[in-house]
Amino acid sequence: MIATPAYAAFDATSPLRPLTVERREPRPTDVAIDILYCGVCHSDLHQVRNQWAHTSYPLVPGHEIVGRVARVGAAVTRFAVGDAVGVGCFVDSCRRCAACARGEEQYCHGVTFTYNGVQDGAPTFGGYSTGIVVDERYVLRIPPSLPLHAAAPLLCAGITTWSPLRHWKVGPGTRVGVVGLGGLGHMAVKLAAALGAEVTLFSSSPSKAADGKRLGAQEVVLAGDDAAIARHAERLDLAIDTASVKHDLGRFLGTLRTDGTMVLLGAPERPAELSAFSLISRRRSLGGSLIGGIAETQEALDFCGDKGLAADVEVIPMQAIDTAYDRMERGDVRYRFVIDLATLRA
Ligand SMILES: [Zn+2]
Ligand SMILES: [Zn+2]
Repeated sequence: MIATPAYAAFDATSPLRPLTVERREPRPTDVAIDILYCGVCHSDLHQVRNQWAHTSYPLVPGHEIVGRVARVGAAVTRFAVGDAVGVGCFVDSCRRCAACARGEEQYCHGVTFTYNGVQDGAPTFGGYSTGIVVDERYVLRIPPSLPLHAAAPLLCAGITTWSPLRHWKVGPGTRVGVVGLGGLGHMAVKLAAALGAEVTLFSSSPSKAADGKRLGAQEVVLAGDDAAIARHAERLDLAIDTASVKHDLGRFLGTLRTDGTMVLLGAPERPAELSAFSLISRRRSLGGSLIGGIAETQEALDFCGDKGLAADVEVIPMQAIDTAYDRMERGDVRYRFVIDLATLRA
């Protein structure tokens, strides 16, 4: 086993603190990765605080992992020592079911999440750590054109927004609405615009209007402005809802054309309320989407590499994580915190 420095939550209320975790010795198909950066996702915060009520402590969060290959097992074919690589939200799956066969491992019942999961009878620990060992099948290649710290959020925020944009076939001329300008929302705006869509951003924060346009939105609509929302009625083909707190879905469903679809990506603690009329009156659909498969994640990374597109990040030391969580809860981050794991090596 490889003793590896990490940072862990020990309960739902205390600050995170150092913990040494054991990583397995690389098996023949494993890649051992020195982690350089790890993005801070809202689901880290949800699980640290046990808001989804299934957290096992100690919890080492982190599933936007970027680093360099330190060692490879004897049977590894796709990676070599020194390669820039990433690991996202899961590190294994059953490899046999229909979802795995379709390359949609995220919907496999046997999926093993990168943290707060169980593998070989032991808990999995995420990227708030200096190293991780993962089967090469679940390792992504980071395009050389992307700065590693800004690429980290592509492993969750990027693929989570990319997957529904592709599934609902967004391209030139598609009218896409994005609800919320946080970590997910800012990637949704960038990716939809890069795919050629006409993007309308709905944000509750007037201070984010200029940023919304800079990121690629044609229009920014104040989410609380009834008249502005009414002006956008029945226009959009697809709405990507990234909000992580409970909100009125009907308000945004009204901006969809007949047969339009709204996709939920955030996971608020409390269930949403919904009037059936907001769907049936225009044959609208309400959907959800969870991250993306390995092949699709590589596709997203390669697209971002071609376009020179990555996340807007604020790099923090590991020791500043609790302050970062507090700021995330206030919406005070533009637009993703990324931990520099060198600060855990010192
Ligand atoms: Zn995430
Ligand atoms: Zn499976």
